Amino acid sequence: MPTSLTATSPMLPFRGDASDSNSIRVQSPDASSTSTLDLTTADAFQDREPTAKRNWPMEPEVGEAASQPEERVKTPELIRFTPDAFKHVVATSANRHKYTRVGAKKRLVFKLLKNESRLIKTIFHSYGFEQASPYSQHFNVLWTGTHLRSHCLRSLAPWQRVNHFPRSYELTRKDKLYENVARASALFGADFDIVPEFCVTPRDIDRFRRMCSTGGSRQPFIVKPVSSSRGRGIFLATRPEEIPLSSVLLISKYISDPYLINGHKFDIRLYVAVTSFNPLVVYLYDEGMTRFAAEKYVVHVKTYDQQHVHLTNYSLNKHSKQYVKNERADAENTGHKWTLSAMLRHMAEEGRDVEVLMMRIEDLIVKTLLSAQSSIAAACRSYVAYEANCFELFGFDILIDNSLKPWLLEVNLSPSLSCDSPLDLALKSRLICDVLTLAGVPIVNPRSGDTSLSPRSASRSAHPPTTSPVIGVRSTKQRRALLLKRQAINSLGRIASAKERTLDDVARDHWKRVEAEEDRCGRFIRIFPRKHTWLVYSPLMEDLGSENYDQRLYENLYGPESENARDATALLVRRQIMDVNTIVCQDEMDPKVQKLLKPVLIECVAYSQRKTVLGGNYPVALPRVRTSARKRTKSLLDLYANPRQADGTISRLVLTNPKELEAEFGPRPVTSALTQLAETETTQSVVRKARQLRLVSGLLVE
Ligand code: ADP
Repeated sequence: MPTSLTATSPMLPFRGDASDSNSIRVQSPDASSTSTLDLTTADAFQDREPTAKRNWPMEPEVGEAASQPEERVKTPELIRFTPDAFKHVVATSANRHKYTRVGAKKRLVFKLLKNESRLIKTIFHSYGFEQASPYSQHFNVLWTGTHLRSHCLRSLAPWQRVNHFPRSYELTRKDKLYENVARASALFGADFDIVPEFCVTPRDIDRFRRMCSTGGSRQPFIVKPVSSSRGRGIFLATRPEEIPLSSVLLISKYISDPYLINGHKFDIRLYVAVTSFNPLVVYLYDEGMTRFAAEKYVVHVKTYDQQHVHLTNYSLNKHSKQYVKNERADAENTGHKWTLSAMLRHMAEEGRDVEVLMMRIEDLIVKTLLSAQSSIAAACRSYVAYEANCFELFGFDILIDNSLKPWLLEVNLSPSLSCDSPLDLALKSRLICDVLTLAGVPIVNPRSGDTSLSPRSASRSAHPPTTSPVIGVRSTKQRRALLLKRQAINSLGRIASAKERTLDDVARDHWKRVEAEEDRCGRFIRIFPRKHTWLVYSPLMEDLGSENYDQRLYENLYGPESENARDATALLVRRQIMDVNTIVCQDEMDPKVQKLLKPVLIECVAYSQRKTVLGGNYPVALPRVRTSARKRTKSLLDLYANPRQADGTISRLVLTNPKELEAEFGPRPVTSALTQLAETETTQSVVRKARQLRLVSGLLVE
């Protein structure tokens, strides 16, 4: 049982921590009213009237006529997640319902797709969420290991959250990522020199031949399957004959002079959260992981087949006899996995300017995201009806070479959340809590039916959303067609009404949203937009249309830049950021550049400050959540008594609404209603389907 949790970390306290035992903090979505909910009162989780008149900030006002007077709209509160909840969810806790009440009261639901992360499940169960079946559309948060289809994104309600943006594979597939960076490099020049020289076979064979001829015969290449991970299928080669050029592979120049610590090669995993692509809003977590190769680094052709020397993946190195596991969260620089901060402190002791290094890493992250911004923003515009629906946590893998130049290796779609060591658990539990808090999960009952839109907007919608069950349509094909049609009509309504808003309205909403995020970003540091980013990066940004949301957001936050982005200073800043050979520390920067980057460099101090302190506010083990906490549908009786447990589209269509059942059968005893239900053809097919899908068991009442 995790008993060693205490209130706050002595170093940099987490802003969202719970401080007293009977209350937790929740927040209104625009951050203007962070409140403490007293959980001892029964109605603590009733929706509250917001203190000021305002609409749901991220939501297009569907079909709203401009002349309509303002109405008071209930704005759902947002949950502030904290790993503190882990210690209460265990059966022995005296205050077991402290956090579970949050989800239980409003019957919140999470759904996992192609992801079985125990950490994610534990966090949601600790907050009283139930797990939805993979077929259910009634969920508050969907955490998926893959991308969603466009129609699923289009049908999301404003309070639903999904952990991926459409088309983010532009960053997370190795070939796409490298090609996007290469395209940006062709457009904007050497500023995008952030990935090693590369080619993708078989389409770039000519380029590969050129790489071989310029690199010399001893030049090693690292060869990777384009959509694989964890070091699988990676090998080093020095001759073209060693590479199967007909396969789809990413071949890149091997960085043969990595920065070594104690003679070992390492790479760093950084966690980057994006809450919007247009305008781009990026956060970097202030802690990361340093992963070491298990064996000492030797650059010699004879060692090229030794993975534990050249590859730094934990999944490979943990099998080495020489791998030393980190056994204590507070011992951050022992074994073959360190924290980012421990690594930076070590480098600082070696006399390196780690603030400049982190400033360059932030620059690399921003440029990587800019290289794919236009295509992801276009996909968001087409498929995502509500801007707050999507958020994403990327895992950036970065290698630092001997001249302290950071190189981007890859961007992970679903960074590993396994907690094999106390260090992993301490870092990742807080990370996921912070990212969910940042995404802003509203406390809305996913089955209450009236919540897909705020009351005001729903009632005045030009295309009122059609959410009633599809009753009376027999064939599955017909039902599906009807549902898709309804979804399309609903999203058309939202998109049409979004267009009715002026650009200023939309830009104001972006601004309000970013300001609200600032208050709930926990240990995330916003690296874009930030003071002077418009000056430095606007010449490297593609034209996303006349809306100019990036510029509008920047100017709303910081006011117009006093200098011009094409001025000598802006150019000099960009040049000195990239010039690792001449500029190795802050003092070597031009005074103008130093002045401009000062706020960034000050913020970069945080990356080496973080320390995991023994007895600090982090869990020492994942609590075992009783499986009964996952309330699954058991019988048709349960379905009737508690219709929200009926998972899956089919059962939802027919069985989820007790009022409809009552209207059809009257308020009679459940069993007789069910007997009658079972006689209808629709119900029988539902029962069959539900059994096939294993959604329910023991469904028929004898
Ligand atoms: P995967 O997705 O399979 O983990 P990566 O691109 O992260 O693939 O590469 C795996 C490991 O190989 C990295 O952790 C790093 O140690 C090493 N590596 C990858 N690319 C290079 C490179 N260009 N130069 C040197 N080492 C590299």
